[in-house]
Amino acid sequence: MKKTILAFFFGAFLLSLTSILNAQEKPLKPRPDAFPPITENSGSKAITMASSIEEMAEWNRYPTYETYLEMMRQWAETYPTLCHIDTIGTSVQGRLILSIYIQPPTVDDLYRPEFFYSSTMHGDEVTGFVMMLRLIDTLLKGYGSNEQYTNLINRTRISINPLSNPDGTYHGGNNTVRYSQRYNANNVDLNRNYPDPFGSAPLNNQQQENTAMIDYVSAHNFRLSANLHGGAEVMNYPWDSFTSAQNPHPNRDWWIEVCKRFVDTSRSYSSNHFRDTYNSGYTAGGDWYVIPNGRQDYMNYYHNCLELTMEISSSKTLSSDQLPEYWRFLQHSLVNYIEEIHSLPSSTEGIDDIATLPDFKVFPNPTRDKLFINDAHDDEIQLFDIKGQEVMNFPKGTRQFDLGALNGGVYILRCGENTIKVIKQ
Ligand SMILES: [Zn+2]
Repeated sequence: MKKTILAFFFGAFLLSLTSILNAQEKPLKPRPDAFPPITENSGSKAITMASSIEEMAEWNRYPTYETYLEMMRQWAETYPTLCHIDTIGTSVQGRLILSIYIQPPTVDDLYRPEFFYSSTMHGDEVTGFVMMLRLIDTLLKGYGSNEQYTNLINRTRISINPLSNPDGTYHGGNNTVRYSQRYNANNVDLNRNYPDPFGSAPLNNQQQENTAMIDYVSAHNFRLSANLHGGAEVMNYPWDSFTSAQNPHPNRDWWIEVCKRFVDTSRSYSSNHFRDTYNSGYTAGGDWYVIPNGRQDYMNYYHNCLELTMEISSSKTLSSDQLPEYWRFLQHSLVNYIEEIHSLPSSTEGIDDIATLPDFKVFPNPTRDKLFINDAHDDEIQLFDIKGQEVMNFPKGTRQFDLGALNGGVYILRCGENTIKVIKQ
Protein backbone atom coordinates (compact mmCIF):
# COMPACT_ATOMS: atom_id res chain seq x y z
CA MET A 1 0.00 0.00 0.00
CA LYS A 2 2.71 2.41 1.03
CA LYS A 3 4.59 1.54 -2.12
CA THR A 4 1.50 2.25 -4.21
CA ILE A 5 1.06 5.63 -2.58
CA LEU A 6 4.72 6.39 -3.05
CA ALA A 7 4.54 5.29 -6.65
CA PHE A 8 1.47 7.46 -7.10
CA PHE A 9 3.23 10.52 -5.69
CA PHE A 10 6.33 9.77 -7.67
CA GLY A 11 4.20 9.47 -10.80
CA ALA A 12 2.47 12.74 -10.01
CA PHE A 13 5.84 14.34 -9.39
CA LEU A 14 7.11 13.11 -12.75
CA LEU A 15 3.97 14.36 -14.44
CA SER A 16 4.29 17.80 -12.92
CA LEU A 17 8.01 17.83 -13.71
CA THR A 18 7.18 16.96 -17.31
CA SER A 19 4.60 19.69 -17.48
CA ILE A 20 7.10 22.19 -16.04
CA LEU A 21 9.66 21.12 -18.62
CA ASN A 22 7.07 21.31 -21.37
CA ALA A 23 5.96 24.70 -20.16
CA GLN A 24 9.54 25.91 -20.59
CA GLU A 25 9.45 24.84 -24.21
CA LYS A 26 6.54 27.16 -25.01
CA PRO A 27 7.73 30.63 -25.84
CA LEU A 28 6.08 33.45 -23.94
CA LYS A 29 6.49 35.84 -26.81
CA PRO A 30 6.89 35.58 -30.56
CA ARG A 31 10.28 35.89 -32.10
CA PRO A 32 10.79 39.49 -33.17
CA ASP A 33 12.85 38.14 -36.01
CA ALA A 34 10.10 35.94 -37.32
CA PHE A 35 7.15 38.21 -37.84
CA PRO A 36 6.48 41.49 -39.54
CA PRO A 37 8.40 43.86 -37.33
CA ILE A 38 6.83 44.69 -34.03
CA THR A 39 6.64 48.41 -34.37
CA GLU A 40 7.69 50.31 -31.33
CA ASN A 41 6.92 53.89 -30.87
CA SER A 42 10.24 55.24 -29.77
CA GLY A 43 8.62 58.64 -30.16
CA SER A 44 7.19 58.35 -26.65
CA LYS A 45 10.48 57.25 -25.14
CA ALA A 46 13.18 59.39 -23.66
CA ILE A 47 15.87 59.13 -26.30
CA THR A 48 18.78 61.40 -25.44
CA MET A 49 21.63 61.72 -27.90
CA ALA A 50 25.28 62.47 -27.21
CA SER A 51 26.74 64.87 -29.75
CA SER A 52 30.23 64.68 -28.24
CA ILE A 53 32.37 62.04 -26.56
CA GLU A 54 32.08 63.95 -23.30
CA GLU A 55 28.33 63.49 -23.38
CA MET A 56 28.82 59.72 -23.49
CA ALA A 57 30.61 59.82 -20.12
CA GLU A 58 27.69 58.33 -18.18
CA TRP A 59 26.74 55.88 -20.94
CA ASN A 60 23.11 56.94 -20.62
CA ARG A 61 22.80 58.35 -24.14
CA TYR A 62 22.99 57.10 -27.69
CA PRO A 63 25.82 58.52 -29.76
CA THR A 64 25.13 60.50 -32.89
CA TYR A 65 26.76 58.95 -35.94
CA GLU A 66 29.63 61.46 -35.75
CA THR A 67 30.12 60.82 -32.03
CA TYR A 68 30.25 57.10 -32.72
CA LEU A 69 32.98 57.60 -35.35
CA GLU A 70 34.82 59.94 -33.01
CA MET A 71 34.75 57.37 -30.19
CA MET A 72 36.24 54.72 -32.45
CA ARG A 73 38.92 57.13 -33.67
CA GLN A 74 39.79 58.17 -30.15
CA TRP A 75 40.25 54.58 -28.95
CA ALA A 76 42.61 53.90 -31.83
CA GLU A 77 44.58 57.03 -30.97
CA THR A 78 44.65 56.46 -27.22
CA TYR A 79 45.60 52.78 -27.41
CA PRO A 80 47.64 52.52 -30.64
CA THR A 81 49.42 49.30 -29.69
CA LEU A 82 46.37 47.63 -28.20
CA CYS A 83 43.80 48.17 -30.94
CA HIS A 84 43.15 49.38 -34.42
CA ILE A 85 40.09 50.09 -36.51
CA ASP A 86 39.13 47.94 -39.48
CA THR A 87 36.67 49.15 -42.07
CA ILE A 88 34.42 46.22 -42.90
CA GLY A 89 32.75 48.20 -45.65
CA THR A 90 30.19 50.88 -46.31
CA SER A 91 26.42 50.88 -46.19
CA VAL A 92 24.08 51.62 -49.09
CA GLN A 93 24.05 55.29 -48.07
CA GLY A 94 27.81 55.37 -47.59
CA ARG A 95 28.07 55.14 -43.80
CA LEU A 96 30.99 53.20 -42.37
CA ILE A 97 30.71 49.67 -41.03
CA LEU A 98 33.58 49.46 -38.56
CA SER A 99 35.23 46.92 -36.36
CA ILE A 100 37.76 47.46 -33.62
CA TYR A 101 40.47 44.86 -33.32
CA ILE A 102 41.98 44.30 -29.88
CA GLN A 103 45.13 42.30 -29.27
CA PRO A 104 47.99 42.46 -26.76
CA PRO A 105 50.66 45.07 -27.52
CA THR A 106 53.49 42.54 -27.37
CA VAL A 107 54.49 40.80 -30.59
CA ASP A 108 55.01 37.05 -30.26
CA ASP A 109 54.06 33.82 -31.97
CA LEU A 110 51.49 32.66 -29.47
CA TYR A 111 48.37 31.23 -31.05
CA ARG A 112 45.34 33.29 -30.14
CA PRO A 113 41.90 32.21 -31.27
CA GLU A 114 39.78 34.87 -32.94
CA PHE A 115 36.56 36.07 -31.39
CA PHE A 116 33.92 38.31 -32.98
CA TYR A 117 31.06 40.38 -31.58
CA SER A 118 28.74 42.30 -33.84
CA SER A 119 25.54 44.13 -33.17
CA THR A 120 22.52 45.88 -34.56
CA MET A 121 22.10 44.38 -38.01
CA HIS A 122 18.49 45.33 -37.30
CA GLY A 123 18.96 49.05 -37.14
CA ASP A 124 16.32 49.72 -34.48
CA GLU A 125 17.74 47.15 -32.03
CA VAL A 126 20.16 49.62 -30.54
CA THR A 127 20.82 48.33 -27.02
CA GLY A 128 23.64 46.11 -28.28
CA PHE A 129 25.21 49.06 -30.13
CA VAL A 130 25.83 50.91 -26.87
CA MET A 131 26.72 47.71 -24.97
CA MET A 132 29.43 46.96 -27.53
CA LEU A 133 30.84 50.49 -27.33
CA ARG A 134 30.97 50.27 -23.58
CA LEU A 135 32.56 46.82 -23.76
CA ILE A 136 35.32 48.18 -26.01
CA ASP A 137 35.94 51.04 -23.59
CA THR A 138 35.97 48.69 -20.58
CA LEU A 139 38.37 46.20 -22.12
CA LEU A 140 40.80 48.86 -23.35
CA LYS A 141 40.79 50.79 -20.06
CA GLY A 142 41.09 47.55 -18.10
CA TYR A 143 44.13 46.21 -19.92
CA GLY A 144 47.03 46.24 -17.47
CA SER A 145 44.86 47.01 -14.45
CA ASN A 146 42.01 44.50 -14.47
CA GLU A 147 43.36 40.97 -14.26
CA GLN A 148 40.48 39.28 -16.07
CA TYR A 149 40.51 41.70 -19.00
CA THR A 150 44.29 41.64 -19.25
CA ASN A 151 44.42 37.84 -19.34
CA LEU A 152 41.58 37.71 -21.81
CA ILE A 153 43.25 40.14 -24.23
CA ASN A 154 46.63 38.41 -23.81
CA ARG A 155 45.10 35.12 -24.94
CA THR A 156 42.55 36.21 -27.53
CA ARG A 157 42.19 38.24 -30.68
CA ILE A 158 38.96 40.16 -30.25
CA SER A 159 37.06 42.01 -32.96
CA ILE A 160 33.98 44.05 -32.15
CA ASN A 161 31.65 45.56 -34.75
CA PRO A 162 29.21 47.71 -32.78
CA LEU A 163 26.91 48.61 -35.68
CA SER A 164 26.31 46.42 -38.75
CA ASN A 165 23.40 48.41 -40.18
CA PRO A 166 24.18 52.12 -39.70
CA ASP A 167 21.61 53.24 -42.31
CA GLY A 168 18.88 51.49 -40.32
CA THR A 169 19.99 52.98 -37.02
CA TYR A 170 20.37 56.50 -38.42
CA HIS A 171 17.33 56.25 -40.69
CA GLY A 172 16.13 59.54 -39.22
CA GLY A 173 19.46 61.27 -39.86
CA ASN A 174 22.88 61.14 -38.24
CA ASN A 175 21.79 63.04 -35.15
CA THR A 176 19.19 60.67 -33.75
CA VAL A 177 18.25 57.01 -33.35
CA ARG A 178 14.64 57.93 -32.63
CA TYR A 179 13.48 57.03 -36.14
CA SER A 180 15.69 53.99 -36.52
CA GLN A 181 14.36 51.11 -38.60
CA ARG A 182 14.97 47.38 -38.82
CA TYR A 183 15.94 47.32 -42.51
CA ASN A 184 18.83 48.77 -44.44
CA ALA A 185 18.29 51.69 -46.84
CA ASN A 186 16.95 49.32 -49.52
CA ASN A 187 14.34 48.09 -47.05
CA VAL A 188 15.92 44.65 -46.89
CA ASP A 189 16.12 42.63 -43.69
CA LEU A 190 19.84 41.88 -43.42
CA ASN A 191 19.13 38.82 -41.30
CA ARG A 192 17.32 37.20 -44.25
CA ASN A 193 20.06 37.95 -46.70
CA TYR A 194 22.91 35.53 -46.01
CA PRO A 195 23.66 32.42 -48.02
CA ASP A 196 21.56 29.61 -46.66
CA PRO A 197 23.20 26.22 -46.87
CA PHE A 198 20.03 24.34 -46.16
CA GLY A 199 18.13 24.45 -49.37
CA SER A 200 16.57 27.84 -49.93
CA ALA A 201 17.17 29.69 -53.15
CA PRO A 202 20.56 31.28 -53.68
CA LEU A 203 20.63 34.99 -53.19
CA ASN A 204 20.49 37.33 -56.12
CA ASN A 205 19.98 40.46 -54.09
CA GLN A 206 22.72 40.31 -51.53
CA GLN A 207 22.99 43.64 -49.77
CA GLN A 208 26.33 45.39 -49.71
CA GLU A 209 26.37 45.48 -45.91
CA ASN A 210 26.30 41.68 -45.95
CA THR A 211 28.69 41.26 -48.87
CA ALA A 212 31.17 43.38 -46.93
CA MET A 213 30.58 41.35 -43.77
CA ILE A 214 31.05 38.09 -45.67
CA ASP A 215 34.36 39.34 -47.10
CA TYR A 216 35.43 40.42 -43.64
CA VAL A 217 34.61 37.18 -41.84
CA SER A 218 36.11 35.20 -44.73
CA ALA A 219 39.40 37.04 -44.22
CA HIS A 220 39.42 36.05 -40.55
CA ASN A 221 39.31 32.76 -38.75
CA PHE A 222 36.69 33.42 -36.12
CA ARG A 223 36.04 30.40 -33.90
CA LEU A 224 33.36 31.92 -31.66
CA SER A 225 31.08 34.88 -32.23
CA ALA A 226 27.81 36.44 -31.21
CA ASN A 227 25.38 38.70 -32.94
CA LEU A 228 23.36 41.07 -30.75
CA HIS A 229 19.70 41.84 -31.28
CA GLY A 230 16.80 43.21 -29.26
CA GLY A 231 13.05 42.87 -28.88
CA ALA A 232 13.31 39.92 -26.49
CA GLU A 233 15.64 38.65 -23.77
CA VAL A 234 16.79 35.19 -24.72
CA MET A 235 19.91 33.39 -25.87
CA ASN A 236 19.21 31.85 -29.27
CA TYR A 237 21.60 29.08 -30.29
CA PRO A 238 21.78 27.42 -33.74
CA TRP A 239 20.20 26.27 -35.87
CA ASP A 240 17.67 28.85 -37.00
CA SER A 241 16.89 26.95 -40.19
CA PHE A 242 15.69 23.83 -38.39
CA THR A 243 13.93 22.83 -35.23
CA SER A 244 16.18 20.85 -32.92
CA ALA A 245 13.98 17.80 -33.54
CA GLN A 246 14.67 18.06 -37.27
CA ASN A 247 18.39 18.64 -37.04
CA PRO A 248 20.02 19.37 -33.68
CA HIS A 249 23.23 21.34 -33.75
CA PRO A 250 26.10 18.90 -33.19
CA ASN A 251 27.29 21.03 -30.26
CA ARG A 252 23.85 21.46 -28.76
CA ASP A 253 24.84 20.35 -25.23
CA TRP A 254 27.75 22.74 -25.23
CA TRP A 255 25.50 25.57 -26.42
CA ILE A 256 23.04 24.92 -23.62
CA GLU A 257 25.80 25.09 -21.00
CA VAL A 258 27.11 28.33 -22.50
CA CYS A 259 23.63 29.86 -22.61
CA LYS A 260 22.96 28.83 -19.00
CA ARG A 261 26.16 30.44 -17.83
CA PHE A 262 25.31 33.64 -19.68
CA VAL A 263 21.78 33.82 -18.32
CA ASP A 264 22.69 32.78 -14.76
CA THR A 265 25.42 35.38 -14.53
CA SER A 266 23.11 38.11 -15.82
CA ARG A 267 20.35 37.10 -13.43
CA SER A 268 22.79 37.14 -10.52
CA TYR A 269 23.10 40.89 -11.13
CA SER A 270 19.45 41.52 -11.91
CA SER A 271 17.08 38.63 -11.43
CA ASN A 272 14.22 39.82 -13.59
CA HIS A 273 15.99 39.57 -16.94
CA PHE A 274 15.96 36.86 -19.61
CA ARG A 275 12.46 35.86 -18.57
CA ASP A 276 10.22 37.33 -21.25
CA THR A 277 10.48 34.49 -23.78
CA TYR A 278 11.48 31.23 -22.10
CA ASN A 279 11.72 30.54 -18.39
CA SER A 280 15.12 29.03 -19.04
CA GLY A 281 16.27 32.17 -20.86
CA TYR A 282 17.54 30.26 -23.88
CA THR A 283 16.31 28.29 -26.87
CA ALA A 284 17.37 26.67 -30.09
CA GLY A 285 16.49 29.28 -32.70
CA GLY A 286 14.36 27.01 -34.85
CA ASP A 287 12.36 25.80 -31.84
CA TRP A 288 11.31 29.38 -31.26
CA TYR A 289 10.68 30.01 -34.93
CA VAL A 290 12.44 28.80 -38.05
CA ILE A 291 14.04 31.58 -40.08
CA PRO A 292 15.99 31.17 -43.32
CA ASN A 293 19.04 33.02 -44.62
CA GLY A 294 20.12 34.33 -41.23
CA ARG A 295 23.64 35.18 -40.21
CA GLN A 296 23.88 32.75 -37.31
CA ASP A 297 23.56 29.66 -39.47
CA TYR A 298 25.78 31.19 -42.14
CA MET A 299 28.60 31.61 -39.61
CA ASN A 300 28.11 28.16 -38.12
CA TYR A 301 27.81 26.34 -41.41
CA TYR A 302 30.08 28.17 -43.83
CA HIS A 303 32.78 29.21 -41.40
CA ASN A 304 32.63 26.55 -38.67
CA CYS A 305 32.37 29.52 -36.35
CA LEU A 306 30.15 28.92 -33.36
CA GLU A 307 27.84 31.91 -33.44
CA LEU A 308 25.08 32.66 -30.97
CA THR A 309 22.26 35.16 -31.44
CA MET A 310 21.86 37.22 -28.28
CA GLU A 311 18.51 38.92 -27.85
CA ILE A 312 19.45 41.23 -24.99
CA SER A 313 16.61 43.65 -24.33
CA SER A 314 12.83 43.27 -24.33
CA SER A 315 12.57 46.66 -25.88
CA LYS A 316 14.29 47.22 -29.20
CA THR A 317 14.96 50.88 -28.56
CA LEU A 318 15.44 51.42 -24.85
CA SER A 319 14.94 54.76 -23.22
CA SER A 320 18.47 55.99 -23.02
CA ASP A 321 18.40 56.27 -19.21
CA GLN A 322 17.92 52.48 -19.02
CA LEU A 323 21.21 51.76 -20.79
CA PRO A 324 23.38 51.77 -17.62
CA GLU A 325 21.08 49.22 -15.95
CA TYR A 326 21.39 46.91 -18.98
CA TRP A 327 25.15 47.23 -18.86
CA ARG A 328 25.14 46.39 -15.14
CA PHE A 329 23.49 43.02 -15.65
CA LEU A 330 25.05 42.18 -19.03
CA GLN A 331 28.68 43.21 -18.72
CA HIS A 332 30.02 40.15 -16.89
CA SER A 333 28.14 37.77 -19.16
CA LEU A 334 29.44 39.56 -22.24
CA VAL A 335 33.05 39.34 -21.07
CA ASN A 336 32.70 35.74 -19.89
CA TYR A 337 31.23 34.75 -23.23
CA ILE A 338 34.48 35.80 -24.94
CA GLU A 339 36.33 33.50 -22.54
CA GLU A 340 34.26 30.55 -23.75
CA ILE A 341 36.52 30.54 -26.81
CA HIS A 342 39.16 28.88 -24.64
CA SER A 343 36.93 25.92 -23.88
CA LEU A 344 35.30 25.20 -27.22
CA PRO A 345 33.86 21.74 -27.75
CA SER A 346 36.58 19.35 -28.88
CA SER A 347 34.73 18.50 -32.04
CA THR A 348 32.56 20.48 -34.37
CA GLU A 349 32.10 17.43 -36.54
CA GLY A 350 28.69 17.19 -38.12
CA ILE A 351 28.45 20.86 -38.92
CA ASP A 352 29.80 20.16 -42.35
CA ASP A 353 27.37 17.95 -44.14
CA ILE A 354 23.65 17.66 -44.32
CA ALA A 355 23.20 14.65 -46.52
CA THR A 356 19.76 13.14 -46.59
CA LEU A 357 20.89 10.16 -48.64
CA PRO A 358 22.84 8.01 -46.18
CA ASP A 359 25.41 6.97 -48.78
CA PHE A 360 25.84 10.36 -50.38
CA LYS A 361 29.51 11.27 -50.07
CA VAL A 362 32.01 13.24 -52.08
CA PHE A 363 35.71 12.50 -52.22
CA PRO A 364 38.50 13.35 -52.08
CA ASN A 365 37.67 16.28 -49.82
CA PRO A 366 39.67 18.53 -49.70
CA THR A 367 40.54 18.30 -53.37
CA ARG A 368 42.90 20.00 -55.81
CA ASP A 369 40.82 19.28 -58.91
CA LYS A 370 38.89 16.02 -59.32
CA LEU A 371 35.87 15.31 -57.18
CA PHE A 372 33.69 12.19 -57.18
CA ILE A 373 30.28 11.33 -55.82
CA ASN A 374 30.06 7.79 -54.52
CA ASP A 375 26.45 7.03 -55.27
CA ALA A 376 23.92 7.29 -58.05
CA HIS A 377 21.58 10.23 -57.80
CA ASP A 378 18.99 11.87 -59.92
CA ASP A 379 19.51 15.55 -59.41
CA GLU A 380 21.33 18.45 -60.92
CA ILE A 381 24.53 19.36 -59.07
CA GLN A 382 25.14 22.97 -58.09
CA LEU A 383 28.27 24.42 -56.59
CA PHE A 384 28.10 27.66 -54.59
CA ASP A 385 30.86 29.86 -53.30
CA ILE A 386 31.08 31.31 -49.81
CA LYS A 387 28.96 34.28 -50.84
CA GLY A 388 26.15 31.99 -51.90
CA GLN A 389 26.71 32.60 -55.63
CA GLU A 390 26.43 29.63 -57.96
CA VAL A 391 29.82 29.09 -59.62
CA MET A 392 29.32 25.78 -61.47
CA ASN A 393 26.56 23.36 -62.23
CA PHE A 394 26.40 19.90 -63.75
CA PRO A 395 23.56 17.88 -65.24
CA LYS A 396 21.68 15.13 -63.45
CA GLY A 397 23.61 12.06 -62.60
CA THR A 398 27.11 13.54 -62.99
CA ARG A 399 29.48 11.73 -60.65
CA GLN A 400 32.85 13.15 -61.59
CA PHE A 401 33.80 16.82 -61.59
CA ASP A 402 36.82 18.95 -62.21
CA LEU A 403 37.18 21.90 -59.86
CA GLY A 404 40.68 22.71 -61.08
CA ALA A 405 39.62 26.12 -62.43
CA LEU A 406 38.25 27.37 -59.10
CA ASN A 407 40.12 29.45 -56.55
CA GLY A 408 41.03 27.75 -53.29
CA GLY A 409 38.44 27.96 -50.54
CA VAL A 410 35.16 26.64 -49.24
CA TYR A 411 32.36 25.66 -51.63
CA ILE A 412 28.96 24.18 -51.05
CA LEU A 413 27.88 21.34 -53.29
CA ARG A 414 24.15 20.85 -53.48
CA CYS A 415 22.49 17.82 -55.02
CA GLY A 416 18.78 17.63 -54.34
CA GLU A 417 18.39 17.63 -50.56
CA ASN A 418 22.06 16.89 -49.99
CA THR A 419 24.40 19.69 -49.02
CA ILE A 420 28.09 19.00 -48.68
CA LYS A 421 30.87 21.40 -47.88
CA VAL A 422 33.81 20.97 -50.28
CA ILE A 423 37.26 22.38 -49.68
CA LYS A 424 39.18 23.31 -52.83
CA GLN A 425 42.92 23.46 -52.20
ZN1 LIG B 1 16.91 41.45 -34.64
